[in-house]
Amino acid sequence: MAGKIIIVSAPSGAGKTSIIKEVISGEMPVEFSVSACTRAKREGELNGKDYWFLSIDDFKERIQEGDFLEWEEVYKDNYYGTLRSELSRIWNKGKNVLIEADVYGGINIKNEYPEISLSIFIMPPSVDTLRERLEKRSTDKAESIETRVNKALEEISLAQKFDVIIVNDNLDEAIHETKKKIREFVENS
Ligand code: 5GP
Repeated sequence: MAGKIIIVSAPSGAGKTSIIKEVISGEMPVEFSVSACTRAKREGELNGKDYWFLSIDDFKERIQEGDFLEWEEVYKDNYYGTLRSELSRIWNKGKNVLIEADVYGGINIKNEYPEISLSIFIMPPSVDTLRERLEKRSTDKAESIETRVNKALEEISLAQKFDVIIVNDNLDEAIHETKKKIREFVENS
C-alpha cells in the first residue's frame, strides 16, 4: 500500500496549510515531504520541519546536482522545490509521501508519476475570502498580497488538471473530505 504520492496544491491563502497539518497529524498512512525553499522563515517555522530553508546559491547548486524532483521560482527570488531524497526517506519507512507544491509543481509531479500519485487541488470559496485570509496573515506585505491574489487567479484556472478538487468553505468538512480521498486512493488503487 505504501510507495504512493499525494500531491496537495492550492493558491496561497486557500487554507491548504491548515488542511495538511490535520492530515499529517493523525493516523493517516502519509508523511509530509519537507520542501526546500529560499524565502525567509516565518515566526514559529522550523528548518527541517516546515521547510529546508536554503540560500539562493545553495538552492541553485542543488538544482545543478539534480537533487530536485521538481522546483519552481514561485515568487521572484523565492524558489521552492521537492527533494528526491524526501521520497526515498519516506518510502523506506513504508509510508506514502504527501507533497505540498504550487499548482505548476503539482501538475509536474502528477505528470512524472501518473499511476502512483493522487493530485488534490484545494479551492478557496471565493477570491474575497482568499484576499481576507492573506490580509490576516500579517507576515505578508501589501504588495506581496496583491501578487499572491493575482497568482491565485491564474492557478485557479488550472484546477481542472487535478484528480480531485476540494472547496474549502468549511475547514472541518474540507479536512474530512481530503482524508477520505487519500484513504480511498492508498487503500484501493
Ligand atoms: P508559502 O511561502 O506560503 O509557504 O508557500 C508559497 C507557495 O509555495 C505555495 O503555493 C506552496 O504550495 C508552494 N510550495 C511549497 N513547497 C513547494 C515545493 O516543493 N514545490 C513547489 N513547486 N511549490 C512549493
